[in-house]
Amino acid sequence: MKLHILGTAGQLPTRTRSQNAYFLDWLYGGVLFDPGEGAQRQFTFAGISPGRIHKIFISHFHGDHCLGLPGIMQRLSLMELKHEVHIYFPEEGRPYFDALSIASKYTHRINFHLHPLHEGAVEETEDYRIEAYDLLHSTPTLGYRFIDKSRMHFRKELLEEMHLYGPILGELERNGKIKHQGKTIIRDELSYYSNEKIFAYVLDTGICDSIPKLIRNADLVLMEATYLGSEFALAEEFMHMTAEKAAEYAKDNNVKKLALTHFSERYKDLNLYQKAVEKTYKNTHISHDLDVIEF
Ligand SMILES: [Zn+2]
Ligand SMILES: [Zn+2]
Repeated sequence: MKLHILGTAGQLPTRTRSQNAYFLDWLYGGVLFDPGEGAQRQFTFAGISPGRIHKIFISHFHGDHCLGLPGIMQRLSLMELKHEVHIYFPEEGRPYFDALSIASKYTHRINFHLHPLHEGAVEETEDYRIEAYDLLHSTPTLGYRFIDKSRMHFRKELLEEMHLYGPILGELERNGKIKHQGKTIIRDELSYYSNEKIFAYVLDTGICDSIPKLIRNADLVLMEATYLGSEFALAEEFMHMTAEKAAEYAKDNNVKKLALTHFSERYKDLNLYQKAVEKTYKNTHISHDLDVIEF
């Protein structure tokens, strides 16, 4: 998977930080999280076509997480996408979603599939599972956990070498071996299992019990860190995270990589963030707009 960080500002955008927006380049279709203002333009800077969006996940309906949604929906409609686009959001935010989706006049050329959510299972196929957990914030907010399941994959080069195509592959997968042109072909000699892969999206939240459930054993966690520990009292009052606490969570929950974002405009120098986390959890990425994280 590949995560494109399109914006890293919290409530107030700055000269160097656009509001939230994150694009997950995913085998099962591109996922856009929380398009804040300016999201469309950030797609252009990142060199990604918005046409690659298959799913949009909104964590909550504070403006910095959704004011870019009308522009994105209208853009996708203008592009007359041939694939389906699904939009997921906390059900309690429905009035805001409805208002945003008719924020200005445009020609509705595609239908969006809506998924108002509560905590729990969001979607499951044989390839992946998506879960949602309640976060602690001043409006109903969901964090999301994406799990790519461990799966068998055929080694394409070996299949080509042996001229194996079509329905017999299904038979080989099911039965473990087949007879083909007089030879016995063994599935396990032509295949491998990919590892389970987990991505967790944790914006915005104060300290709460859902965080370990979201991030446990994750390959990448994107977490908000609006504040540094010196502003701990503000973080508590406004139900946001500090960099130090985020690093502690990552260390305690076997996270492989942590990326921080959603920085308060009060911090001009993000090196302060690096310093704040390096003692607790080394593998922390302090995000800048247009960073790309492969995992
Ligand atoms: Zn926010
Ligand atoms: Zn918020």
